Amino acid sequence: GPLLVIDHVARRYRQGDAAVDVLIDASAQLAAGEVVALVAPSGAGKSTLLHIAGLLERPDGGEVFFDGQPTAGLSDDARTALRRNEVGFVYQFHHLLPEFSALENVVMPQLIRGLGAGEARTRAAELLSYLGLGQRLDHRPAELSGGEQQRVAIARAVANAPRLLLADEPTGNLDPVTSAHVFATLTALARASGLAAIVATHNLELAETLDRRLTLRDGVLVET
Ligand code: ADP
Ligand code: ADP
Repeated sequence: GPLLVIDHVARRYRQGDAAVDVLIDASAQLAAGEVVALVAPSGAGKSTLLHIAGLLERPDGGEVFFDGQPTAGLSDDARTALRRNEVGFVYQFHHLLPEFSALENVVMPQLIRGLGAGEARTRAAELLSYLGLGQRLDHRPAELSGGEQQRVAIARAVANAPRLLLADEPTGNLDPVTSAHVFATLTALARASGLAAIVATHNLELAETLDRRLTLRDGVLVET
């Protein structure tokens, strides 16, 4: 079955006295190895949907199934554990640690998960090399181009081998050529490792390069 099922998800925010229905009916499925674009204007609810899909936030209605398992009934602790094991996040701004090298930035989450230092460094170096950064292992973030920084952020997000990657405007800050490279990197990674990804983006042209496109129209998620 699919890795991720978003099933009739709804989310309402209170804003003062008013209530805003950001998600009214969001349903989608994602298989292992698939990279899906989420294209919608600013404020449409893309981040909200990614946060719900990644178990950071609970929906008000509907259900998210991860690998067939319903998640609504899980405790906060169980949801956190599932998220830490299975979900990686990438944002518009890379949030890499500035004092650490590319390699160390990718080693860090593995040490936190309890992997040995040697093993973590080997995995980080392999991953960064695979993403075309084999000559950049000892560079600090400020010494890397914007596209390279985002590829380090992707490596960090998948360092612990999550099955789901959620990327929120990962190229929002990059020029078109660099953005295309980052998208190609994501797709190659998904093909090689079976990783499933949802990539929120404003860039329609880049969205066309991914497997499928979803959009949010007035709180309803539709395939385009
Ligand atoms: P997008 O990622 O597509 O720009 P968001 O999911 O960030 O959209 O936001 C969708 C709408 O929900 C916006 O109108 C935003 O102001 C509102 N919103 C998001 N998070 C909250 C929150 N925690 N409390 C109240 N309103 C929120
Ligand atoms: P782009 O044109 O892709 O934005 P840059 O012109 O920023 O890339 O950088 C080109 C190359 O030079 C990159 O591969 C980057 O690793 C390297 N580089 C950029 N700035 C520095 C720096 N301050 N120290 C060391 N290497 C750098």
